[in-house]
Amino acid sequence: MDSSFSGYDSYDTDNGDDGDNDNETATTTNSAMPTSHIPSTIILANGNTVQVLFGTTSTDHLYADRLVDSRLVTAITNALNIAESNGAYIVSIYIEATTNGTHTNANSNHYRGTAVDISRINGIPLIVQHASKAVKTLQTAFDQLPNIRENFGPYFKHKQTLPWTIGGHENHIHISINQ
Ligand SMILES: [Zn+2]
Repeated sequence: MDSSFSGYDSYDTDNGDDGDNDNETATTTNSAMPTSHIPSTIILANGNTVQVLFGTTSTDHLYADRLVDSRLVTAITNALNIAESNGAYIVSIYIEATTNGTHTNANSNHYRGTAVDISRINGIPLIVQHASKAVKTLQTAFDQLPNIRENFGPYFKHKQTLPWTIGGHENHIHISINQ
């Protein structure tokens, strides 16, 4: 089923800009070392599960199941739990990029292992479902995390939970966490 959507969530259709250019120098040392894989099944607090599928970025042909900052894994799990409690009915997410992909800023949080791009929810590309209930609920859930940094997607574009002006992100949710 996933392959039938091939191309819908390609960055080739996202103006080549992942948008996570914060132009800020990290205030901490290189403490954010990629140390964890995002599990293929995330078990929620109520016992339900969310399947995590991974894509390959067209810019570098690298698979997204790569080591990331373990705090990013925690953030994804916590956001999925909040979304679940708010009736999101998310059974799967498709991660297009972690540290893979070519991003316009050399300081992209992706390279630090603290960012993720989600391009499908429940098997449906975000470019197709737009700001669906699942998208709205998940983006809102991420904004409730204490360490949320960038939260750019079809529903809104927030940085540190405040509106942020940036293009793109109609075909994926870009999430990053503070270091
Ligand atoms: Zn991104």
